[in-house]
Amino acid sequence: MDNGFDNSISGGADLRPDADERHMARAIDQAYIAEENGDVPIGCVIVYEGQVVAKAYNQREQLHDPTAHAEIIALTQAAEFIGNWRLHGCTIYVTLEPCPMCAGALVLARMDRLVYGCDDPKTGAVRSLYNIVQDERLNHRLEVTAGVLADKCTAQLQEFFKRRREEKRNSEFL
Ligand SMILES: [Zn+2]
Repeated sequence: MDNGFDNSISGGADLRPDADERHMARAIDQAYIAEENGDVPIGCVIVYEGQVVAKAYNQREQLHDPTAHAEIIALTQAAEFIGNWRLHGCTIYVTLEPCPMCAGALVLARMDRLVYGCDDPKTGAVRSLYNIVQDERLNHRLEVTAGVLADKCTAQLQEFFKRRREEKRNSEFL
């Protein structure tokens, strides 16, 4: 499969693809909650030993907090569940390529693996603008699988922004 990814970013040849899609579908469900709250629909779950130990969605607008990205909220939940800030053995599933803040936090958390849906050409810090999670100069690197349910993740975001543009246009006529 030539998808333009380098070898360190791959789907793997084991049974993980099915599990990856299943967990990504849960992340998409979380993203819908963000959307209902007026936030950009981005969701994630963290899985430890096959069990979901954190699920979160973007709450930037809801909490008036620039750091309230889905990944940051989920990291806190997972660390609380495990009782350790080191999230060895954990995989995070997030609908959109993480930004620099979240990518940095994943490295700090010593997370094993990152699985994400669609790329973010504007702020992506896994391969679009930077690759923070696999930078040799840092003391930890994550295994990355990109593009899981990417079409669904992209469509969810596109529909949100399209609807928002229409609402803005309609409000200008009021
Ligand atoms: Zn982020």
